[in-house]
Amino acid sequence: VEVTARVTVTPAAHFVWSNRLDLVHDCLVCLRVGRVVQLRHGMPYGLCTGNEHPAPMRVSAFDAAEHGAERRLRCRITSWWAPFSDSVEAGVQASELSAEPWVRLHYRVGCHTCRDSGVGEWLGMEGALESGAASAVSSCPRCGTALVSAVAGPEIDLVG
Ligand SMILES: [Zn+2]
Ligand SMILES: [Zn+2]
Repeated sequence: VEVTARVTVTPAAHFVWSNRLDLVHDCLVCLRVGRVVQLRHGMPYGLCTGNEHPAPMRVSAFDAAEHGAERRLRCRITSWWAPFSDSVEAGVQASELSAEPWVRLHYRVGCHTCRDSGVGEWLGMEGALESGAASAVSSCPRCGTALVSAVAGPEIDLVG
């Protein structure tokens, strides 16, 4: 599975993608469809939040890029998967890409306006960009300066 996202930052923003993401996955370990799996680039396995068991899934590529004011992210997620039926909901078949794909990406953003006016904790804000959130705008909670905007949520594609 490949996840891609882009946001636009203002000159006042210090923007960094987090290496964490949450992805809905049909989990072969607990035999449930639509589980949220927590992943972290660099961790050899994920954590299925159904009953918090290790999931055979990892972030195998994590590429952040800058194009002017745009900050792009492309993640490849590799998992061990085979067909199964949901163990609770009779007749629901799992698929390699969940029937209702959903992902949440995290980021950290700092405010240069606050930095320049001597605020000590100008760097610590966290935000997230998730599927279905058509537009996201985040501004500094202290001074109101616009920092990050997104015209669309992340995209999820099944890749060969
Ligand atoms: Zn599971
Ligand atoms: Zn600020």
